[in-house]
Amino acid sequence: MNALVATNRNFRQAARILGLDSKLETSLLIPFREIKVECTIPKDDGTLVSYVGFRVQHDNARGPMKGGIRYHPEVDPDEVNALAQLMTWKTAVVDIPYGGAKGGIGCSPTDLTTSELERLTRVFTQKIHDLIGIHRDVPAPDMGTNSQTMAWILDEYSKFHGHSPAVVTGKPIDLGGSLGREAATGLGVVFAIEVLLEEYGNLISDMKFAIQGFGNVGSWAAKFIHERGGKVVAVSDVTGAVENPNGIDIPALLKHKESTQSLKGFQGGDALDPNDLLVHECDVLIPCALGGVLNKENAADVKAKFIVEAANHPTDPEADEILSKKGVVILPDIYANCGGVTVSYFEWVQNIQGFMWDEERVNCELKRYMRKAFLDIKAMCQAYDCSLRMGAFVLGVNRVARATLMRGWEA
Ligand code: GLU
Repeated sequence: MNALVATNRNFRQAARILGLDSKLETSLLIPFREIKVECTIPKDDGTLVSYVGFRVQHDNARGPMKGGIRYHPEVDPDEVNALAQLMTWKTAVVDIPYGGAKGGIGCSPTDLTTSELERLTRVFTQKIHDLIGIHRDVPAPDMGTNSQTMAWILDEYSKFHGHSPAVVTGKPIDLGGSLGREAATGLGVVFAIEVLLEEYGNLISDMKFAIQGFGNVGSWAAKFIHERGGKVVAVSDVTGAVENPNGIDIPALLKHKESTQSLKGFQGGDALDPNDLLVHECDVLIPCALGGVLNKENAADVKAKFIVEAANHPTDPEADEILSKKGVVILPDIYANCGGVTVSYFEWVQNIQGFMWDEERVNCELKRYMRKAFLDIKAMCQAYDCSLRMGAFVLGVNRVARATLMRGWEA
């Protein structure tokens, strides 16, 4: 099932649980604005090439729209649409004053040189600069983009609007980025796991973890789990997979990945077929890569008791049903991976205040927001007797619906 159909289905179920007026329900589903631009750039060899860029601005009832920009060959308008909507519910779940947006360019960033990526980012920014802004829509990194991408957007945007550090988050520290932002999604995932396990009387140090994806999110999550005494028994990424039933030495794996750019050839474990990662023996499975990886083909074989969705929409609704019947507890993406956007919010606040927080303050606030959101979701699950996913959707949709009604929407 495609991401948009799945997201809409979850939204409609939450709207029904809340008894939302059907006109309001429809209006909350329709994006505020969908932008599509052609970005034509000269390649380093002088030939011209064109890429399609998108920005979907889903909703701004609770504040400026917020969300990442991804560079990926499979970026398509439907997926960006679903991801923009997920951002609306995500920012509401963690209760930060934003709406939701998402953008992307359909390109393969690893096939472009740094100067080509810079030209592409600048052209994209020129085409959308009057539709984003500090109080309008604030982009951030996502798959295939990073702090350098944000630095180029900041620079290009500032040519039109004057120096505006708060127009993007996830910037380099020297340009107004926040301490702790890079690790934030991974750390948020680990704070979420801590509070979830507490509910079941478990600790991270009692558990075995399998992690799919060893990029920004997966590698930080693995590091923080390892530091807390958790055993990471399997890790995979696009280059391969490694397993060790006694627990992988994560600092050593991080060093190996840094020097070889690959998981292959790591001496501290055995090679594993990356396709088997999701069904590997473990207590907690953390998908940190692409969407739709858990589906009806592999869901029945999952061994984990807990799934923590660090990626966006990694679980297909059909898999969701199979896993729930098996009693697997799923911590949904719109909560589990909201650490990144939460620290983006702290970055934006620091930029507006012109005052930099130390890392301890950032991490302490992140923990507070993650724990509070979990308790809020749990209260919804108890009130409506529903899964954590539906509890999170009900919480987020209700907050956005209330803001929409208070502002008045039918005039
Ligand atoms: N791309 C991240 C996400 O999907 C972060 C977005 C942000 O910081 O605005 O949540």
